[in-house]
Amino acid sequence: MFKSTFHAHSRFDDGKEELEAYILEALKRDFKVFGFSGHAPVLFDSGWNMKQENFDQYVATAKALKEKYKGQIEIYTGLETDYYPGCTDWRKKKGIDYTIGAIHFLKHPDTGQYMPMDGNREEFEMSLEEGFDKDVQALVEAYYSQVREMLMKMTPNVVAHLDVIRKNNNNRDYFDEDDDWYRDEVMKTLEVISLTHTIVEVNTGGISRGYVKEPYPSRWILEACHDLDISVMVNSDTHHPSTIDCYFKESYELLKSIGFRSQRILYHDKWCDVGL
Ligand SMILES: [Zn+2]
Ligand SMILES: [Zn+2]
Repeated sequence: MFKSTFHAHSRFDDGKEELEAYILEALKRDFKVFGFSGHAPVLFDSGWNMKQENFDQYVATAKALKEKYKGQIEIYTGLETDYYPGCTDWRKKKGIDYTIGAIHFLKHPDTGQYMPMDGNREEFEMSLEEGFDKDVQALVEAYYSQVREMLMKMTPNVVAHLDVIRKNNNNRDYFDEDDDWYRDEVMKTLEVISLTHTIVEVNTGGISRGYVKEPYPSRWILEACHDLDISVMVNSDTHHPSTIDCYFKESYELLKSIGFRSQRILYHDKWCDVGL
């Protein structure tokens, strides 16, 4: 099994421990590649993004580790970037090897408040009530529409936890993934992913943190990715060294059972397909 992850948080943002603690654990667990993806700084207070003043140190620390562990493990410096109106474009920042593009917030059209889309149930309820008059279809459509806008205007290398909007929908409490309108939204988004050659991550972070039982996105979405020839990569979205490979074995098996033979990752400084 070729082990890699490109989605990891640390004490630089809302994760725990130093970057090196992740690498030491990754070596123990036989990883070949490890990418850091701190939440890029944002232009408002979020509580979990990296502070602008720590950005240079984050990049320098990751680069120093890359040198220190050369020959043992490949280390890449990435960012999980938020897309919102007027956001910073981090893709060409010096030292950044890749970006994982995410929609964590939607801006309220009237109040200008940033409403969390992947928060806990209480936060989700609040976004639904304050931003969408309790119309869950409108909220979900606004979310996917913002994902598509990000893909077209600021195409990242990887799209983060594509259907994270179902985080609080475990028992179909809010919507049914089988509904035509929901499927249409996802399929429209996959078309843009296909056109922009963005990689879809299989994100196991919701499992390690106890929110969901299956990785993002749902199996039927991964099947559609396979049909559309969209590339995938398995990521742990880890916030602690102990969960760097949570649910990896199962995710590789899931992809293989759908028909995927490889994942697309950065390896030897190039994007390439490696066997599962
Ligand atoms: Zn995220
Ligand atoms: Zn993340």
